[in-house]
Amino acid sequence: MRASNLKGYQIPGHAERLIANLFADDTTVFLNADDDFNILQQILDKWCIASKAKFNIAETEIIPIGSSTYRAKVIQTRKTQDDKQPLPEWLHIAVEGEAVRILGAWFGNNISEASVWEPTLEKIDTSLDCWNKSSPTMEGRRHIVQMVIGGMTQFLTQVQGMPEQIEKKVKKRIWNFVWAEKEKSPVNKETVHGPIEDGRRAVLDIEARKKAIDIMWMRSYLTFGEDRPLWAKVADALFALHSPRNVTEENVDKRIKLNPILQTWKTLPKRSTNTAAIDDLQRIIKTIKDFKIRQEGLAYSREILREMPIWLHGHANARICLLNRSAASKCLKKENHHNLRTVGQAEDLAAHLQEEEHEADSLCQCQQCIWISTTYQCLNPHACMTRAKALLDTLPPKWDPRQTQPEDHEPLHAPTSEEKDITVFDTRITVRGTLTDTFRIFTEGEDNESISVIPPYQGPAQEPTVIATDGSCIENGRETARVGAGIYFGNHDLRNKSMRLPKNMFKRITKATNRIKQSPLEQSNQTGEVVAAREAIELAPRDAILRYRHDFER
Ligand SMILES: [Zn+2]
Ligand SMILES: [Zn+2]
Ligand SMILES: [Zn+2]
Repeated sequence: MRASNLKGYQIPGHAERLIANLFADDTTVFLNADDDFNILQQILDKWCIASKAKFNIAETEIIPIGSSTYRAKVIQTRKTQDDKQPLPEWLHIAVEGEAVRILGAWFGNNISEASVWEPTLEKIDTSLDCWNKSSPTMEGRRHIVQMVIGGMTQFLTQVQGMPEQIEKKVKKRIWNFVWAEKEKSPVNKETVHGPIEDGRRAVLDIEARKKAIDIMWMRSYLTFGEDRPLWAKVADALFALHSPRNVTEENVDKRIKLNPILQTWKTLPKRSTNTAAIDDLQRIIKTIKDFKIRQEGLAYSREILREMPIWLHGHANARICLLNRSAASKCLKKENHHNLRTVGQAEDLAAHLQEEEHEADSLCQCQQCIWISTTYQCLNPHACMTRAKALLDTLPPKWDPRQTQPEDHEPLHAPTSEEKDITVFDTRITVRGTLTDTFRIFTEGEDNESISVIPPYQGPAQEPTVIATDGSCIENGRETARVGAGIYFGNHDLRNKSMRLPKNMFKRITKATNRIKQSPLEQSNQTGEVVAAREAIELAPRDAILRYRHDFER
């Protein structure tokens, strides 16, 4: 099929056209309006003979894709275009609101997500009724909820999302089933859903599971580079189509809108008869906002910095928005010219300005200028290079690959120790990998956009400072647990320290408002260990090579 001349769909940012998805016993084919259905049929016939498989014609369904007027026309005429043959009679074309099942999920135009859930709710009710007859105990009811409701809703929540009204219905069923025998539920909600280790009942928490699923989807959406999933590229293309109605946004060239998280452009997906996947798009935006997902790090590798989109770069000075429209910018943006999209490309282009033989002139005939003008059909290489440099100049040092970065002074690998029970403190602060690795969840306050490049230690060779640290906890795992941390530099060393961890942590949320956030500090061995290690760093001399011991007797 991929070798055929069927057009399929072009997804922005994806080299290969989308034509077919084959998975298990389902095949989904994406045809362009120009494509001839007969060609597809010939391919399928050939494939069936070759593989001795049989296509279940009765189960083949067509979902028209396009504007609502176009869809209505396809349904009415059975033609994808006026000059095309009508689609064969035996093919069912799904009408508006009709859901088609593909690999367990439901697809269609304007299908109601609630109706998709109805069969699942019915199945749950039948099953719970049946279990009720055996008069299970409280503990039994908890397991049944997990198995029946948890099991039956997990997959659909993952692939379809659970609409609010369904969530309410499911929650009600859980509540009623768990408290079936009692008139009034005597325990508050917290107690019912808390983890079992806390001595609570750990009944399936639909809301929490929904959030966990949303976060897993975000991991997929925020995967960049070669592994970027196709659905995320489709989502980005749809985001770019949903500009808020204002001049600034509508004037931005759609070609440079690559991703609304990495760049500063706005998107506002609104429901209409011509839009698709609105619930999913809105959920992405909401999840990112609710869980405060953003790029955060002390420093990034040059590889990561170069991967960022250059246009409307999310961390650039606001004046970058004014650099989209000159003749040079147009030349840089055009696909068949420079096709400039990333910081790396801009850096490479701007670097030619430094070359000795280059003259700051549109008529420069240096080797590079000639190469650029022929390769990119560029009329004024000098102007384009200058514009690339102007774009880079809007980046703060932390995001500018031309600047010295902490990476430049860091070893490539983490320090290791031959001795068992010794960990050498890894002083590297650079986030490495791809853009995927720059995202953090549950972030707080403002991100620090400045960098501090710490030059390598130049002083006399020094003995490593060995520090023993440990955390310990009494009554670990219980409500009454208390934890302590200990730091030991050596006999009679004044820096030796032991401390008891407070029950709560206090943290200033923003510099501006001075608001303080109080959050409980988990009382466990692990928090003790972490606090001890952190405290040790603060106590040790700044340039010390730190080695941690953790082999001593308790
Ligand atoms: Zn030149
Ligand atoms: Zn150019
Ligand atoms: Zn320990």
